[in-house]
Amino acid sequence: MSTPIETINQAARLVVKIGSSLLLQNDTLNRDWLAAMAQDLAKLSKDGKKLIVVSSGAVSLGCAALGLKRNQLTLEESQAAAATGQIELAQGWQAALAEQGLAAAQILLTAEDTEQRRRYLNARQTLTTLMAHGAVPVINENDTVATQELRYGDNDRLAARVAAMVSADCLVLLSDIDGLYDADPTQNENANFIDKVPHIDAKIEAMAGGTGSSHGSGGMVTKLQAAQIAQRAGCHMVLASGRAMTPLSVLAEGARATLFEAHDNPHSARAAWIAGGLQPSGSLHLDAGAISALYAGKSLLPVGLTSVAGHFERGDCVALMAADGKEIGRGLSAYASTEAQRMIGLSSDAMENELGYRGRAEMVHRDDMVLHGKSELSKKGESNE
Ligand code: GLU
Repeated sequence: MSTPIETINQAARLVVKIGSSLLLQNDTLNRDWLAAMAQDLAKLSKDGKKLIVVSSGAVSLGCAALGLKRNQLTLEESQAAAATGQIELAQGWQAALAEQGLAAAQILLTAEDTEQRRRYLNARQTLTTLMAHGAVPVINENDTVATQELRYGDNDRLAARVAAMVSADCLVLLSDIDGLYDADPTQNENANFIDKVPHIDAKIEAMAGGTGSSHGSGGMVTKLQAAQIAQRAGCHMVLASGRAMTPLSVLAEGARATLFEAHDNPHSARAAWIAGGLQPSGSLHLDAGAISALYAGKSLLPVGLTSVAGHFERGDCVALMAADGKEIGRGLSAYASTEAQRMIGLSSDAMENELGYRGRAEMVHRDDMVLHGKSELSKKGESNE
């Protein structure tokens, strides 16, 4: 049985979510903490881990800049505050990560970006490319355009969706509490610490109270929701205190944290979703060369297509068919059926001429594909072959 720090050490892809209360001190950005946190991240990066940061703090920083009170905001005011604070937040991260030799990349997401397949695929591809280049994406919700009904409103769930989207092995939620207790530890000194949660059931849910701190929108309820999203996506979640200057090093030194264990691994969870969770909207028929390339772990290129059937959009699930009419697998198409039709049998160069723009080289990326009879998705692809 792994401990939280062992789980972090074993992860190849990690998402670290940082709550507003950690980033702010007396309404200003706590640059010393940020610098120390960046040191922790740099250590993980040197160990070869791919990292994503989900950082809150824009609304709180913006409130300070605009003279607004965080707990009395209208939606418009919180959006205005986010727009103001996000600049400072991004700049703070950029400076702190640069100090450690790491490039930062700002990504602002809405709920739709993580839920609509087309946008999801774009976001996933960009994040994967950034990580492959050693950059650290720093994500926040795009508060200025997220409408009331559609916004996450809390970065706990956003971080869990991001972790699922990039097939991360572990999500670390750093906040002002060191884990889950069976009662609110600020109210009840007999509250017991829970170090491991394999499944979230009614008993665990009953342990979560309302929101705790004056900054941020989280609280234990959204943390449990995040854990559930992560667990189902095959991603472990560690809930830990971020109060110390280098919170991950402090964990390594033995600080306690709650581990929400993944129910699966990210690859099989994603494979199960593609293979069984989605109804194919069309099919791609492949030649023998393409099929052996797929079994060798390669992506599907248009040159291997013999025909296209059905009507689908980019990001939709399609069946992959052999010449004898047998379905050999399923995948998410990088092109809509109208484009796929025009690309049948084309080489990558010819494809660009035909489309009039340089699109993705793959018709179905190997990360977005599952072959029947192969239990898992092919290894997480660093390459785009
Ligand atoms: N997106 C919000 C911000 O940057 C944070 C939401 C949350 O506190 O979880 O301020």
